[in-house]
Amino acid sequence: MLQETAASFLADEGSIAKQLRHWRDTGCTDGYGTALWKQFGELGLTGICIPEAQGGLGLGSVEAALVLEEIGRNLTPSPFLTTAVAGARAIEGTAHAERWYPGILSGETVLALAVDESSRHAPEKTALAAERRGNGFVLNGQKQLVVHGNSADVILTIARTAGSPGEREGLTLFAVPKAAAEVESATLADSSKAAHITFSNVELDADAVVGEVDGGWAPLARALNAGRAGVSAELVGVAAGAWAMTVDYLKQRKQFGKLIGEFQALQHRAAHLYGEIEIARAAALKAAELLDSGGEKADLLVAVAKAKAASVSKLAVQEGVQMHGGIGMTDEHDIGLYMKREAVLGELFGDVYFHRARVAELSGY
Ligand SMILES: Cc1cc2nc3c(=O)[nH]c(=O)nc-3n(C[C@H](O)[C@H](O)[C@H](O)COP(=O)(O)OP(=O)(O)OC[C@H]3O[C@@H](n4cnc5c(N)ncnc54)[C@H](O)[C@@H]3O)c2cc1C
Repeated sequence: MLQETAASFLADEGSIAKQLRHWRDTGCTDGYGTALWKQFGELGLTGICIPEAQGGLGLGSVEAALVLEEIGRNLTPSPFLTTAVAGARAIEGTAHAERWYPGILSGETVLALAVDESSRHAPEKTALAAERRGNGFVLNGQKQLVVHGNSADVILTIARTAGSPGEREGLTLFAVPKAAAEVESATLADSSKAAHITFSNVELDADAVVGEVDGGWAPLARALNAGRAGVSAELVGVAAGAWAMTVDYLKQRKQFGKLIGEFQALQHRAAHLYGEIEIARAAALKAAELLDSGGEKADLLVAVAKAKAASVSKLAVQEGVQMHGGIGMTDEHDIGLYMKREAVLGELFGDVYFHRARVAELSGY
């Protein structure tokens, strides 16, 4: 039922024409519609990862994946992944959950996760310094390409309170009000918005800490696992959307006196892609299921899912653009938009090389 609700809501209200093209072409600074985000709240979708005791649906990563696949299929710009999935998981079980969950539930609050300090995803390499001062902390440093960092109410920022870059120990997660930092907006390839954020002598009270001082790896890992499983599902949706649009085109376009879909060479390519998308979907759902059940191979399957979904999605958008011929190169046709979304989601929370290396590491190679 959730899948049906999400599918019809996003195909209608979250469609490319109504959302992505509209906000892109009107120069929207958020990159998404705030009214749509409130509709996510009204439908209860923002509460999927929030416990029932705190007003949410008390569901999990599997249900979030069903919604994210539809978001991917329709290229819907929305803070669902950063806020209702990764952000909600980062603050779960902490005092910040009481503070921010009501706004997430109503589709008013947006959270961003500030991790990377270079163009490459490398959470352990966090160098941003958080020094103790009085009862609180002072933050100095920079974060790059923080998705929705320009419109978020709170920026969940991983900083170093001890140890050296490269270590998982000595990190602390802070909930930083956006007004406290210098935010420079950036537009990504798919027209979504991110931010370069500078922290210069940002003073925070001790209650800005999410979880434990020096123990930030735990909430960060929770958020990243949920975000990576979620982005895998969204990439499956991108691949499936590009595939459907391409197969539809193969059945319409006539060349050399017949439909191009009648050529066996193109049928083989479409069939191969279909098989690959099914494998990527299975990996994404398995990762989500293991996260929900606390399975010991959850970290491994999350990395498998992100690597597989990103490579399959790249294949799908490349095949899509090529089989559409020249019109795949024009902005007027939607197929090129799938390629742009894949380029950004493929990077988010670690690219295919990052996750292949992680699969090797977790498998003891
Ligand atoms: C066959 C073909 C057809 C095409 N057809 C069209 C078309 O019809 N219309 C059209 O407009 N374009 C088209 N393109 C261009 C296509 O949009 C670009 O290839 C695509 O945007 C990727 O750009 P890039 O490979 O240069 O990636 P890059 O420039 O390497 O990066 C892509 C984006 O990702 C961002 N990024 C980098 N690191 C991160 C990170 N860690 N987190 C988040 N984001 C990050 C970058 O800021 C950049 O915006 C086509 C390309 C090809 C190959």
